Amino acid sequence: MRVPQMLPWVGDEEYQALRSCFEEAWITEGPKSDEFLRRLLELTGSRYGVFAPNGTLALYLALKAVGIGPGDEVLVPDTTFVASANAVEMVGATPVFVEVKRGCFHIDIASCERFCGPCTRAVMPVHLWGTAVEMDDVTAFAKQRDLVVVEDAAQALDVRYRGKHAGSFGQVSAFSFFADKTITTAEGGMVVTDDEQTYRRLLFLRNQGRLNRGSFVHPEVGYNFRITDMQAAVGLVQLGKLDEIKRRKARILEWYKNGLDGLPQVEFFRPPLRAEWIPFRMPLLCENAFDLMDHLKRHEVEPRSWFFPLHAQPGFVQLTRKQLSGAVPEDTFANAIYAYDHGVCLPTFPQLSKAQVDHVCKTIRAYYDAA
Ligand SMILES: *Cc1c(COP(=O)(O)O)cnc(C)c1O
Repeated sequence: MRVPQMLPWVGDEEYQALRSCFEEAWITEGPKSDEFLRRLLELTGSRYGVFAPNGTLALYLALKAVGIGPGDEVLVPDTTFVASANAVEMVGATPVFVEVKRGCFHIDIASCERFCGPCTRAVMPVHLWGTAVEMDDVTAFAKQRDLVVVEDAAQALDVRYRGKHAGSFGQVSAFSFFADKTITTAEGGMVVTDDEQTYRRLLFLRNQGRLNRGSFVHPEVGYNFRITDMQAAVGLVQLGKLDEIKRRKARILEWYKNGLDGLPQVEFFRPPLRAEWIPFRMPLLCENAFDLMDHLKRHEVEPRSWFFPLHAQPGFVQLTRKQLSGAVPEDTFANAIYAYDHGVCLPTFPQLSKAQVDHVCKTIRAYYDAA
């Protein structure tokens, strides 16, 4: 039985929605995008929003809109998808990696304190694994140090911390609608903010430095960050399926918990207490993680590791050495390293069947039984 890591849940409804774009002959950003944005802001509770071609460019746009640039440093958790740091590099600023907390593996404020310096301008909490960061700590730290909070909420649509939506705590935040995110438009991203000035900057930056499309007088320098109405049409259908997606992912989590119950070698990811969780992949911490993943692959299950610590990424390791003046002390990123060494992501997409989850659990049990 083949169990892929991920399959986007798209079908006939999305296809019909695409068709309507062609029938109405409106394919670029237009009425469907307006409607999709309105619905998304209703969901997230943010005042303003703009689309971006993908989550990485949404983060870039967010950082740029709040004036982060050359000479600035941004605190980025060591455990996250590399795009969080790449967006910082893209605006010409420098990512400074900080340790993550054991348990949720989200940004650690004690480590932020340690790495915060005279050039630090912003902190980027990443709402990793489809849950939310304990934002009270981040907000208090940022306030005390006078830092801008830029949230990476790529994985956190419809996820709240203490009843408030992820991405609505900081000055500006980014979401992604990539194929493996909670809802997808194939590619796509969104930036949200409650701050009117930031919103104006976003509008200028994404529309060639002007507010209106038809004019060729451009008060500022800007770029093109449009999406298409074809993506928005798909997004609207996906939003309609969001409750069902949540329901199915919750059910899959229960299947895994029952199927792996009592295995001492396997630990489930634990979201922060007051945060909601819509599993993005199914993160576990396992003994012999890499050997287990090889075993799963031999049984047609496609696992994923957790994210490789950013401080040690080939593209960033020189920077880390420079920041820490030489060798990186072994305990500096102990939790991020632990997460990578033990992390295994199991499949959790809405169409995944009980039989497939049973196969995955049986395969894992067989592996540890034989060890
Ligand atoms: C997916 C993701 C991104 C980037 O989004 P893209 O749409 O793939 O560019 C950034 N950060 C995190 C945490 C993500 O999961």
